[in-house]
Amino acid sequence: MALRRTARHAGAGRRRARADAHRAGRRGQRAIFHRLRDALCEFGPGLELRVVPDVARRRRYLRLPARSGVSSGRNGAVRGNRNAGRACPQRRVVLADEPPLAALGLCRAGPAVTATVKAKPSLRANKHMPESTSRDIQTQYDAIVIGGGVNGCGVARDLALRGVKVLLIEKGDFAMGTSWTSSGMIHGGARYLLSDIATTKKSCTDAGYIRCIAPHLIFRIPLMMPILKRDGLKGRINLEGADALFTVYDRYQPLKGGNPHIRLTPEEARRIEPMLAENLLGAVQTDEWGIDVPRLCVINILDAVEHGATAASWTAVTGFLREGRAVTGVAYEDRVTGRRGEARAGIVVNCAGPWATRVAEMAGARVELRPAKGIHLVLDRRISNIGVIAQAVDGRQVFVIPHENVSVIGTTDDDYFGDLDDIRILEDEIEYLLRAMETVLPRIREARIVKTIAGLRPTLFEQAKYEDDLTRDHRVFDHEREDGVPGLITLAGGKLAAYRIMAEDATDLACTKLGNRERCQTHLLPLPGGKGMPDIEGLAAKYRLDPYVVKRLAARQGSRTPAVLALIDENPAFANYVCTCEPVLEAELRYAIRREFVRHAVDLIGRCRLAEGPCQGYGCIVQAATIFGQERGLSPDDVADEALLIAQSKWRWRRDILAGPHLAQEELYRLVHLAVLDPLHVLKHRKEVF
Ligand SMILES: Cc1cc2nc3c(=O)[nH]c(=O)nc-3n(C[C@H](O)[C@H](O)[C@H](O)COP(=O)(O)OP(=O)(O)OC[C@H]3O[C@@H](n4cnc5c(N)ncnc54)[C@H](O)[C@@H]3O)c2cc1C
Repeated sequence: MALRRTARHAGAGRRRARADAHRAGRRGQRAIFHRLRDALCEFGPGLELRVVPDVARRRRYLRLPARSGVSSGRNGAVRGNRNAGRACPQRRVVLADEPPLAALGLCRAGPAVTATVKAKPSLRANKHMPESTSRDIQTQYDAIVIGGGVNGCGVARDLALRGVKVLLIEKGDFAMGTSWTSSGMIHGGARYLLSDIATTKKSCTDAGYIRCIAPHLIFRIPLMMPILKRDGLKGRINLEGADALFTVYDRYQPLKGGNPHIRLTPEEARRIEPMLAENLLGAVQTDEWGIDVPRLCVINILDAVEHGATAASWTAVTGFLREGRAVTGVAYEDRVTGRRGEARAGIVVNCAGPWATRVAEMAGARVELRPAKGIHLVLDRRISNIGVIAQAVDGRQVFVIPHENVSVIGTTDDDYFGDLDDIRILEDEIEYLLRAMETVLPRIREARIVKTIAGLRPTLFEQAKYEDDLTRDHRVFDHEREDGVPGLITLAGGKLAAYRIMAEDATDLACTKLGNRERCQTHLLPLPGGKGMPDIEGLAAKYRLDPYVVKRLAARQGSRTPAVLALIDENPAFANYVCTCEPVLEAELRYAIRREFVRHAVDLIGRCRLAEGPCQGYGCIVQAATIFGQERGLSPDDVADEALLIAQSKWRWRRDILAGPHLAQEELYRLVHLAVLDPLHVLKHRKEVF
């Protein structure tokens, strides 16, 4: 009884404390709002400040995409294979309408504070290399590729290497679609051995080629599959089954330079990974390759451009040019400048990933896909020494992989019927992954989720199959033959791991139609940076940098690392770290801005892994935007806009997890940011450098 009374008192105390905190929070919000308003008014007229009373208007001012009528939360996404086809109402996690500016620490909800971001009419032309803007687009090409994901970039490179004059158009930054949201493994997928052995073989073969043409971008991921005692006899069968499966997989491992699997006793497994659960029966360890996907896309497009291609990012294809039923080109709109134009070509290749159906429809052609949603969770630390695989409640395999200074948990696989451009993550999906992982890593919830990632697999349509059982094979649609629409082909389905072979298939068909007889060379010629690794220790000594920092840089830039570091000769300050939680050098940012088609500062996230560490950008957003502004000669107002765009993009991946301790940490970061870094102060006092 006494205990219960104490608990009741403690409960009342907690409620009082919460009410006090709430009142203090409102006072704090008001204070921050007034401070921000004063600072912005003083700072300049570029940022417009308004108090927007209701959520609907807030959304409009913030230019958030409207939610689709059929949102995943209310209808489509269904948890787990066995439930496929059954709608289940699910609850979204709190704070969906929090303004993205909060992510930068500039403001938060309460009286909503918004900054309207003006489209910049033009940025100063890059003196080192053409920007990837619509200004570079000519009116006539041999081929036009729609979509700058891994497949589109692969096709553009293949076409350019065969001497075809090609234009690639991407509506966001390169890789910004599904490619960015993938697990980034170039693997055969041992589990496909059970249903789709041809895909395993093809993926392993192509992974072997990718390993040769981009050796700097790939990294080995040792993966352990612990089997628990809890399942009794079933556990022992599982262990033997896993051993047998990986024995078969070992036959394909040499194709990609993988190691054969090994079987571990519980003691051996725990020696490798001490965080494992107690009730181990044994484990099987294998390995796969991981790859930096945004950079894979960028170096493909760099190579294409170095071989004569044109690339335009942040430019959307809005329609097709037609002669009768034939497609003869595309109409496009630059999403930065608003500029519209048309370009003609002998063949148009639709590589729009999950959007391929929509793009084909614009030409009256048909591409049937079954988009499947997959999510990842990013934790604020490395929670294991190696990758660990666990079995989810429905029998699917999920994993956690330590990567750089964070860990990545993935992934789900659910039919998706919602808005392709606004994929929300559900509380149930997060719980599904965490519950699976904590069976083998019981302390996993001690880590904080700092980011979520959601993407759509552009899987080929098949009826009456669970999502996991759908083929991962690809298809090249010849719309002249299939729909009577000459001039258009579509590449869809498949896997990142086989992107090069897929691109080769699509390019073969495009070249046949163009009468080009050149052979594919993409498996023979190294991608930019792929001509061997530089002398890490030598470069570290020369530029007085930590070898670890140079090694991280070399993992992105490979043989081009010395060219990046040479910028430090131009100005020793370029050796500064922009981000400290995962060291990113100022020189790397400047190199990317000058040479790698960066149109917005936000593009630096994919080029340099900016703001991808545990702090998710709190320490580096303003810095990066300022550097971008210096390189492009922007006004402080425009720099602030660029900073806000990065914050908004980072916010998109965090908005669905902000509850409980995550929210508290977010608030702490925000206050630290305001109090210590004082972004507006930094921007204001950097005026003189522009
Ligand atoms: C959660 C998840 C995990 C995955 N993990 C792996 C893995 O570990 N290994 C593996 O091999 N595969 C994996 N995949 C699959 C792999 O990511 C995809 O097969 C691959 O990235 C698809 O690339 P894409 O170029 O076809 O599509 P996308 O990357 O989506 O590219 C299409 C592009 O077209 C652009 N676009 C669309 N419409 C227009 C328009 N009108 N105008 C201009 N541009 C337009 C989009 O902006 C987009 O950038 C995973 C997928 C998911 C979702």
